[in-house]
Amino acid sequence: MRRLLIAGNWKMNTSLQTAKSLASAIATNLPALDPDKSIDVALFPPFVFIPTVVEACASTGIQVGAQTCSQHPYGAFTGEVSTDMLLSCGCNQVLVGHSERRQYYHETNDLVALKVESVLKSPLTPILCIGETLEQRQTGQTWAILQQQLDAVYSLIDASQLERIIIAYEPVWAIGTGVAASSTEAEEAHAFIRKHLSRWTNAESLRILYGGSVTADNAKELLSQPDIDGALIGGASLKAESFCSIISTAHSLR
Ligand code: PEP
Repeated sequence: MRRLLIAGNWKMNTSLQTAKSLASAIATNLPALDPDKSIDVALFPPFVFIPTVVEACASTGIQVGAQTCSQHPYGAFTGEVSTDMLLSCGCNQVLVGHSERRQYYHETNDLVALKVESVLKSPLTPILCIGETLEQRQTGQTWAILQQQLDAVYSLIDASQLERIIIAYEPVWAIGTGVAASSTEAEEAHAFIRKHLSRWTNAESLRILYGGSVTADNAKELLSQPDIDGALIGGASLKAESFCSIISTAHSLR
C-alpha cells in the first residue's frame, strides 16, 4: 500500500512567532501516528522560518520542506536558495513547479525540469506540482497539459531516479478558490497521471497528492479515492485544528 502524505504549504504567511506557534500547535495536536498506518506529515513554511519549524517539530515525526529551490548548486544568484542550504537546515523535501511559481515567477516546464533534476542530485524528495487552468480545462486541454508538464521532467531525469519523485496534482482553478475538484474529477486526473507515467517508471508505487481547496470537510471523500495518495493543503494548513483534523481523517482511512 502506498503511504499517504498530508502536506501543509504555508505559502507567504506567518511571522517568526506565528510559524513557531503553528508548528508547535500542530505537533501537540497531531493524532498519535501509528507507524503501521503509513501516513507521513510534512510542513512547508517560508524559507526563513524553516529552522524554527524544524526545531518545533523535532522528535514528532513531522517532516519539513521548502516551497521552491534554485536549479543551481551555489554561486552568484542573489536571493536564491540551493538544495544544499535546505538540507543543512533540516529539510527533506521541496515543492517544485507550484502553479503560483509558474504563474507569477514565469517558471516554465523546462525550468521546472531543471529544478527537479537538481533536487534529485541531493537526498531531498521533489514534489512536482502540475495542473491545468480553468481555461485549459474548459477547452478540453487538461490531459495534454498534464502530459506536457510531466514529460518535460520525466524525459530529462535519469530513469534510476524517477521513483523518487512525488506528484501533486493541483488544478489551478481549485487552488485557494474554495472550489475543490470533485472526487470524481480528481480521481480521473490521478488515474490518468498514473497511467501516463507507467511508460516512464513503476507508476504503481508513485505517490500522487491532490491539492486545491482541501478542507476538513472534503478530505475524507478525496482521500478515499484509489489513486489519491495524500493532499497538498494551503489555506487549511494555516490552522492547527483543520490541518490536524485532515491528518486524523487520513489516519482513519489507513
Ligand atoms: C496550495 O497552495 O498548494 C493549495 C492547494 O492551496 P489551497 O489548499 O488553499 O487551495
